[in-house]
Formats: sequence, C-alpha cells, structure tokens
Amino acid sequence: MPVLGNPKNTIEIIQKYNFMFQKKFGQNFLIDTHVLDKIIRAAEVTKEDCVLEIGPGIGTMTQYLAESAGHVVAVEIDANLIPILKETLADYENVTVLNADILKVDIAEMARKYGGGRPMKAVANLPYYITTPIIMNLLEGSAPVDNITVMVQKEVADRMQTGPGSKDYGALSLAVQYYAEPYIVANVPPNCFIPRPAVGSAVIRLKKLPRPSVEVKDPELMFKLIRASFNQRRKTLLNGLGNAAELSFPKERIAAAIAACGLEPAVRGETLSLAQFAALADALTTAGRMIAGR
Ligand code: SAM
Repeated sequence: MPVLGNPKNTIEIIQKYNFMFQKKFGQNFLIDTHVLDKIIRAAEVTKEDCVLEIGPGIGTMTQYLAESAGHVVAVEIDANLIPILKETLADYENVTVLNADILKVDIAEMARKYGGGRPMKAVANLPYYITTPIIMNLLEGSAPVDNITVMVQKEVADRMQTGPGSKDYGALSLAVQYYAEPYIVANVPPNCFIPRPAVGSAVIRLKKLPRPSVEVKDPELMFKLIRASFNQRRKTLLNGLGNAAELSFPKERIAAAIAACGLEPAVRGETLSLAQFAALADALTTAGRMIAGR
C-alpha cells in the first residue's frame, strides 16, 4: 500500500482515481511528513486510544494515526474519497471509515461503539469552512472527547489562544478558553498542502479541562454577554449590552452590574477577561433574583 504524506504518492493516487478537489469541502491534503509527525506527537496518541479523525481525505494522516492508536474512526463527507480510502487503508484493521457529515454524526455513540465508552481524542486537518462549529461541538456538546489536536487557519488558532488587548481576542477565544487549555503546536505554511491554501495554517492542541475554567451561575447568559460585547466592538460595554437583541436588561441594571464588578462606566467589552465576564453575568443574575424575589 502506498505510504502517503509525500507529494509523489499523493499525486499518484489522485491521478489513479481521477479525483477532483472540491473547494466547497475545504480539501487541502497534507504532503509533509514532518508536519504529520508533529501532529501525532502533539496528540499523544497511544494504543489505548480511540481516535476520531475528521475528514481523512485520501487517508494520509489516517495511516499515521492507525500506526499509533488502538482504533481510528474517520468521518469523511465526500463519497468520491471512500474508494480511495479503501485502498490506502487496506492494511489497517483498526480503522473504521464512515461516509458522513461530522456535524450530523452522534459522537457519543461512536465512543461507545469503538472506544468502549471512554473519551476519544480528536485529531484532524480540519476543513476550514466549518472550523468553529466543529470545535464548539466537540467542546460544548456531550461528545466524550478529552483532547483535540487540529490544523486550522493560522488566524483562527491565534484567536483561540489570545487574551484581552489583542485584535484577535473575541468570542471564540473566550468560548475555547472556558472549556480548554489551548496551545499552538506549530505554524504550517501553504506549501505543506496540495492544493496550496490561500492562508497560513497552524496546529493547535486543545486540552479539555476537567471543569470549566471559571465558575459562573448562568453560563448561557455569560456567553450572550460575550457575543453582544464583541458584536459591537466599537461601542462601550454598556451600550453594546444595552442595544443587544439577545438581551433585555434595562440600561440602569447593566450600569449597576458594571459598577458592582469594579469596572469603569465607559469600559469596552474587548478589554474584559473571562473571569470578568463571569463576574458580570453573576452580577446580572443576582440582581435579577433580587428583583424577582421582591
Ligand atoms: N486529512 C486529510 C489530509 O490531511 O490530507 C484531508 C484534510 S482536508 C483539509 C479536509 C477534509 O475534510 C476533506 O477530505 C473534506 O472532504 C472533509 N470534509 C469537509 N467537510 C466535512 C464534513 N462536514 N464532515 C466530514 N468531513 C468533511
């Protein structure tokens, strides 16, 4: 079986099957063995692990994963890749390929079926057009996944890792850091893929925390505050939250909560840390209870 991960064998297999790349599926296949090694090392995959691979493509990373993991479940949306994967993964008995949309599969069921119900590790060179929904699904949902190591657009990796004061700081940073500890493993230039993407890439590892990084009474409200603040970046926090369609607090109550958190009245949302958003949500929740209880 051809070992993929280099340009020659990748081009050969693509030509053999007359495979046409589909831009709509974000298809940029890895052709650099050093990058593949780095991903596998960062993911710390062992023979005890059941790995979920999102978008195996022609099976390049799947071959690497199959060598190190107990079992690999690879979910690929493009039916044209399934016969190719049959050939490139024929030597591996510990791989299951599913032709499905990762946003529609039941990951908990997969973990039960292939991993004995233990948490899986997710490893992928992600299709960039759905990076955020895939990551949020793995972090927020009931999916038993404790470790995520993925290739994403460089700018998105920066957004996940950064804190207040950076132009990249936003709702994604806070959502990721609520559930996980992000760590950028490597930056990856466009020439490591075929075809070359128009953007730079990075491998990021998200180690899921045993419990969220801050305590907050109403996490849903906190995320509404976060979204409202970053939807209107140029506005003060007070105006951003006061005008948000998702929220219905009177402005005086928001102003009181901002003051109760020790923040300046004209503070901008983009300067708040996750802990400060949590405190603000708690201040609004407590004030709500006091009013309701009157
Ligand atoms: N893992 C391969 C590699 O590194 O060479 C391919 C990575 S390529 C960036 C992304 C892969 O995800 C493609 O094979 C694409 O068809 C697949 N894909 C796109 N959308 C998907 C979805 N919703 N569910 C599952 N796979 C998807």
